[in-house]
Amino acid sequence: MKTIRLREGKERSLQRHHPWVFQGSIEKGKADAGETVRVEAADGSFLAWGAYSPNSTIRVRAWSFEASERIDADFFERRIARALALRARLPVASDGVRLVHGEADGLPGLVVDRYGDLLSVQFLSVGSVRWKDVIADALMTQTGARGLYERSDSSVRSLEGLEPVTGWLRGGGGTELTIREHGWKLSLDVATGHKTGFYLDQRDNRARFAEMVRQQGARRVLNCFSYTGGFSVAALAGGARHVTSIDSSAPALERVRAHVELNGFDGARSQTQDADVNQFLRDEIKAGRSYDAIVLDPPKYAPTAAHAERASRAYKDINRLALKLLEPGGLLLTFSCSGGISADLFHKIVAGAAMDAGVDGAILARLESAPDHPTTLFFPEGEYLKGLAIVKQ
Ligand code: SAH
Repeated sequence: MKTIRLREGKERSLQRHHPWVFQGSIEKGKADAGETVRVEAADGSFLAWGAYSPNSTIRVRAWSFEASERIDADFFERRIARALALRARLPVASDGVRLVHGEADGLPGLVVDRYGDLLSVQFLSVGSVRWKDVIADALMTQTGARGLYERSDSSVRSLEGLEPVTGWLRGGGGTELTIREHGWKLSLDVATGHKTGFYLDQRDNRARFAEMVRQQGARRVLNCFSYTGGFSVAALAGGARHVTSIDSSAPALERVRAHVELNGFDGARSQTQDADVNQFLRDEIKAGRSYDAIVLDPPKYAPTAAHAERASRAYKDINRLALKLLEPGGLLLTFSCSGGISADLFHKIVAGAAMDAGVDGAILARLESAPDHPTTLFFPEGEYLKGLAIVKQ
């Protein structure tokens, strides 16, 4: 077993069970990609077992903080069982569920989503790649799934020196399927959809939106960054008369149209447009249009805190435009899924946007990811999705 020794004073983070060791904290020691290492403090005392990653600034991701724990197939079976047991206790109103959420489930670099009887999995770190077969077997046995599709094509893999990999890892067959979320039917393709196929993290916010649309009596809804129209279906289910869905992905918009029909809504109540949201919002303001409710769910503008400043301007821009475009009394549901933007900072950005738009807003709700994307006490970085539901005043 190779040992990684930390520099004096750098042991505190691991002692608080934070799972990352940065390159700059290491005094000495090296290992192969994904190899299990013993991490010790400057005085030689045990801190953690972890996976070494020679190319990443996150040089070690901790598997365990227990000196007596062995990192072997049993370990991964136990961790997966623990993650599944947690989901069994959560209120998840869908057969699309995040079963493993990386660091938050003690499995750094591993994301597992279940869609009906299929698993869609991302191995995002060299440590998780090293244990790929063990993990795949444990997942198949413990879930009884008919197949496991690998979607290791996220750009974060390049930070670990990993090439994209996709395809069936276990089982096979069709990759297209339909899940039921809050009773709505939503289709996806695990081979071609974004991430593992769908944005499960917004599940409960879509239900909240349907409720709010109903309560506020919102008639004209604009869903910006709609992807396949989860929020659009929610708006229609909430009684909206008409919903416009904007995205820059044509296949996603095709699915929005399919979802409207699949859920039994009149196609005349829905309109899709392949456009850049920022430009669309400007054009709508110029054209003198307005909406009763707007959803803003943009992609990750700031993957890390280093991107926060530029991202803040981009968030502020779209929020200012959306607030202008809203009717007084209208509802804005606005999100950031950037790890580099805290909930506090996001609040300030939206406040700045309202200031520039010359409007006030009352916060109806603070929103976060669905509970099957847990945040653990020791890893606050896991809290990436934050949102506000605001009534324009
Ligand atoms: N709200 C969605 C998820 C949105 S993900 C849901 O509930 O499922 C972000 C979406 O923004 C992606 O579908 C992506 O295609 C789209 N997108 C990214 N940049 C865009 C831009 N500049 N204009 C329009 N859409 C964009």
